[in-house]
Amino acid sequence: MIEDFLTFTLAQQIPPQCEGAASGFTWKWLAHGVVLLEPNQPLDSCDHIAISAGIHGNETAPIELLESLLQDLSRGVLTLNVRLLVLLGHPSAMQTGERYQQIDLNRLFSGQHRHYEASIETQRAAQLESLIHAFFSASTQGSQSSGKKWHLDLHTAIRGSHHVRFAVLPFQESQSFSRSLFYWLDSAGIEAAVLNQAPSGTFSYFTSHYCGADSCTLELGKAKPFGDNDLSQFAQVDLALRHLIEQGIQDVSPTKKPPILVYQVTQQLTKLTENFTLNFPDSVKNFTTFHQGEVLATDGDTTYTVAQAQEWVLFPNAKVRPGLRAGLMLIRTDVELG
Ligand SMILES: [Zn+2]
Repeated sequence: MIEDFLTFTLAQQIPPQCEGAASGFTWKWLAHGVVLLEPNQPLDSCDHIAISAGIHGNETAPIELLESLLQDLSRGVLTLNVRLLVLLGHPSAMQTGERYQQIDLNRLFSGQHRHYEASIETQRAAQLESLIHAFFSASTQGSQSSGKKWHLDLHTAIRGSHHVRFAVLPFQESQSFSRSLFYWLDSAGIEAAVLNQAPSGTFSYFTSHYCGADSCTLELGKAKPFGDNDLSQFAQVDLALRHLIEQGIQDVSPTKKPPILVYQVTQQLTKLTENFTLNFPDSVKNFTTFHQGEVLATDGDTTYTVAQAQEWVLFPNAKVRPGLRAGLMLIRTDVELG
């Protein structure tokens, strides 16, 4: 079944066999789109790696990457040396090629799903929270105690970007970020990391805050419909994921500084009403620069302007529901890696 994981997930069918053994590991189908793989070795020193894709159903390339990883694991081409949870976030939106059906799933984690009318996304957010929490909780029980916990949530961006590949790290009160994670991001061809400055409803904030994982959301370029992706664009992240699965999380010398550019969020453009208007064209790329005093958006009596000498825009989107984020503004920063 493991090699047909995507097929069963897209068809939303329960496979005839829900657990089994493959080359060097056992696997268990936990729910539509969620499979647990555990190596045939003592788990006490294993790292615990959750990799998700398809939280937005039309972001197909990372889904295809994960499918190819699972196929190579099942054929024994790739050796599993970590506990691995693979999650395909939104099977029904994947099937129809939509970002989401009623509500953006990646705004609904950390209990945000309770604030909305029940929908396929609110139910899925609750289910994914429970499955990934159980995965990371098992890592701290009994013998499975010494490994590290990572969650990589793979996405592709809607718009063009001056940094083709970048990571968004969820808000952490401690402001202490994993050195190993930053060096892994560099090895995966990620050019920049954005530090979020407030809690949010993303999947990676949930696993960071509630599961104690080192988590990030990865934006890996633009995706096309299933089968049309040029996976060579994703070759470097594919290779880095394969190393992670085979070798676990690598230690990095403590003297090293961040190997990639680091930005932090300095202000959020919130759509308050339907009058919200961005003051720049829709085609503006992520990480486009704006200068102090420039007007970014207006919303009735509210005007958003650039406060710092220079700010970079991320994820501008005026089409969200009122009350939601319509864009983030960033500044460059330094970070201490722990
Ligand atoms: Zn996405």
